Amino acid sequence: MLERDPRTIYPGHGPIVLDAKAKLREYLEHRAEREEQILTGLAAGDRTVEALVERIYADHPADVQELAARSVTAHLLKLETEGRAAKAGRASARAWTIIEPKACARCGRPVKGRARYCGSCSLALLQGDAAGSA
Ligand SMILES: [Zn+2]
Repeated sequence: MLERDPRTIYPGHGPIVLDAKAKLREYLEHRAEREEQILTGLAAGDRTVEALVERIYADHPADVQELAARSVTAHLLKLETEGRAAKAGRASARAWTIIEPKACARCGRPVKGRARYCGSCSLALLQGDAAGSA
């Protein structure tokens, strides 16, 4: 959005934002800061969304916890897509860990979790196998 050189944001609700670029930058910096806190939490041994929420939103009122949990989950899924975090276990007992980003063994793009190939390569290889041409 920043590349499009916006000047004014007309949000769906709330006041008009006149300095659009500053506001967008503020959002992005906040996101980066939150991601840093999540990585720090994981590195310190936090394994669950609940533990991360407790650490990061400790000084927030209890009624934001649910929203906080959704935000933390979104960040974790983004980190997973980037190959920087991995999850284990099912929903109720999900444990997250920090991992070293891995490159796809076929194309070099970041791999999700501990997989050997990225999504498109896994699919391509599967289809190749099915056609007997791999
Ligand atoms: Zn690949």
